[in-house]
Amino acid sequence: MHRGIATVSLSGILEEKLEAIAAAGFDGVEIFDNDLVASPLPPQEIARRCADLGLTVDLFQPIRDVEGVDPARFPAVLHRVRRKLEVASALGAGTVLACSNALPDAVDDPDLSAEQLHAVGELAASFGITVAYEALAWGRHVDRVGRAWAAVLRADHPAITLAVDTFHMLARGDDGSALAGIPGDRIGFLQVADAPLLDMNVLEWSRHFRCFPGQGTLDVAGVVAAVLEAGYRGPLSLEIFSDVVREADPFVTARDGMRSLVFLEDQLGERLSGPVREQISVAPPVPRRTDVAFVELSDPTGSVYPGLLSGLGFHVAGRHRTKPVVWWRNGGAHVVVNEAAPGPAATAFGLVAPPVADVAERAAALLWPAVDKTRGEGEADLPGITSPSGLHVFVSAEPGETDDWHTDFVADDERAPDNGWLGLDHLDVAVSADQLNEELSFFRTLFGLHPVSSEEYIQPEGRLRIRALRAEKGDLRVALTVSDSGAGAQQHGITQMAFATPDVVDAVRRIRSRGVELLSPPDNYYADLDARFALDPDLLVLLRKHDLLYDRNATGELLHAYTVPGEGGFQVEILERRGGYDGYGSANTHVRLAAARRS
Ligand code: MG
Repeated sequence: MHRGIATVSLSGILEEKLEAIAAAGFDGVEIFDNDLVASPLPPQEIARRCADLGLTVDLFQPIRDVEGVDPARFPAVLHRVRRKLEVASALGAGTVLACSNALPDAVDDPDLSAEQLHAVGELAASFGITVAYEALAWGRHVDRVGRAWAAVLRADHPAITLAVDTFHMLARGDDGSALAGIPGDRIGFLQVADAPLLDMNVLEWSRHFRCFPGQGTLDVAGVVAAVLEAGYRGPLSLEIFSDVVREADPFVTARDGMRSLVFLEDQLGERLSGPVREQISVAPPVPRRTDVAFVELSDPTGSVYPGLLSGLGFHVAGRHRTKPVVWWRNGGAHVVVNEAAPGPAATAFGLVAPPVADVAERAAALLWPAVDKTRGEGEADLPGITSPSGLHVFVSAEPGETDDWHTDFVADDERAPDNGWLGLDHLDVAVSADQLNEELSFFRTLFGLHPVSSEEYIQPEGRLRIRALRAEKGDLRVALTVSDSGAGAQQHGITQMAFATPDVVDAVRRIRSRGVELLSPPDNYYADLDARFALDPDLLVLLRKHDLLYDRNATGELLHAYTVPGEGGFQVEILERRGGYDGYGSANTHVRLAAARRS
């Protein structure tokens, strides 16, 4: 579909907005009258800039309060409409949006409104322009799409068409069925917006809380599907306003908007069939499964991580065919140490997420940038995608297939005894507060991860927020952490690798014997555990002896331990899940943070 966005949806001044919209790959734009009025550029110059940027001007909006007007004042309305049509014409906009009268003195007389809309249609037609008439959810008399359609029918002029705005419809409780029987060629424009469900005044709701499709809770796809099924073939255009976008970088917002349309077209692809479905461009789907393959640690001197990995019981399992990269392994857990990348740092990981080519194509459709890298001859194609916070995520095929990451390594013959860790349980990734939403969007839109929890902790300095995500199918779990102050605020990248073991007591005993230091929870913590869980005394002794943290819920138990933080606060967690325990031991977070601070 032809993808557009209204300039009102972005912060900044008009010139910046247009550049941001073009950079995100939109086809067209709605020019918001206030943006134009505040601009020193004449409409012809704005039209020229749009053309240079490859944007069509799809709509000029809005013209307000043109019907239901006291007849004595209607000549003044026609004067205003004529002037605005001249502007629209200079912009090269074929359609202008007129919204229903929201003034307190609007006249409730369908015949009068029809007559006035007809006159506006006559005037517009003389400019070769079509009017799309929109029911504002807070219109004085026309506040629902059905009423706007009745007015369009009664106006009976080819230049008067219906505008569909998903927010105005859904906010009043209408859905796609409200459009039944309306021919698609009488729908002059389609604007899309979502919103979280809030019980508040609809005008305030609209002005402050609209968001892009998929970010709210309204059934935007249902309305859009109905409009397409009716035969509408015009632009799909985003029109949102919110307190969030008013403060955001317009380039970030524009990309976010484009991603929301890719996401919306995903949903439409599921709902539509036949020739209508061909109208939409569906990006390749999210991967069939998303499993962790490896974590990559950068260590140019090769002296920071190998000691830790050996201490944890990892052994060298292979070496890269062409690059100074070493593959370390402990049972099902894999870590690669890259001596060619700047560091020490932990800012990359690999996933098994088939089909690989589709993921790369989906990433491109969603405007997530590819990692710039060289690929040696005969090496696996591991597309890398850069997250907003700068993580590099590499995508591998399944073990044994072409483009399996293992094939880039020559396996070591001398294999140390396998300690049998189960694998990587989850990763903690530190992001800055202003990157959190975009980083969430990266994992949600590209891999289909879904949020499982949102938690907040007081740390010794400041506040720590954690948003955990996990794969619908597959074992990938990522916890995004935002530290609002203190040393944590300077962290970035992977700050914690958590490995699952079948026997954490045995794992901790071995790790300690090899000289790795673990965090030591205080006695008060164990007294509190006993108070909360009335633990078996033997278990309590065991936990205390091995410095293990503990949590329990209705489904099972978690026993876990942490290494003392190293460079940049980087830590390793070793855990054992018992029964169906699925959480992260978050009740212990403040104890862990305080112990880390003391260490
Ligand atoms: Mg609208």
